[in-house]
Amino acid sequence: MTSLASSRPGETSLEALRTKSSGSALVRAEARCAAAGERWTEPRRRTFELLVEAGRPVKAYDLVASYGPGRRSTKPPTVYRALDFLIGLGLVHKVKTANAFIACPRPDAAPHTASFLICDVCGRADELDLGMREPLEVIAQRLAFRLDHVVIEARGVCAACPPCSKIT
Ligand SMILES: [Zn+2]
Ligand SMILES: [Zn+2]
Repeated sequence: MTSLASSRPGETSLEALRTKSSGSALVRAEARCAAAGERWTEPRRRTFELLVEAGRPVKAYDLVASYGPGRRSTKPPTVYRALDFLIGLGLVHKVKTANAFIACPRPDAAPHTASFLICDVCGRADELDLGMREPLEVIAQRLAFRLDHVVIEARGVCAACPPCSKIT
């Protein structure tokens, strides 16, 4: 019996949990990609991995800057092409008001309308499943409006941030 496991009781760490969840998100994303008949190339994998690890909206230039081993940068088109692909497959969403990108927490879900609660203080964005697509489609149809894609972004202050810290 090894004492390693009990020597650091506090280390059932967030790091371990995060690695585990990012691993499973990557597996699910790869499966989704395969199901679409697409190749899970290294730039696609790496870009998605960076977004899952961040767990919050990340700007494209930050992805470019931390892409490589030892956080070396890569060429911007590598990341931009990967982002386009991942967005098209619904694995990544663009958070327009933050001009940033975030990994979908449900990489195996059907293509969906992404809705976000975005904190103006810490920048976290929580994706919600509001089921808004269907009612909007009914209205659009009535108005003969061809619905393309829908983005719902609500901004405010999250529970972890004091309300008075909002930057105006
Ligand atoms: Zn999503
Ligand atoms: Zn916050």
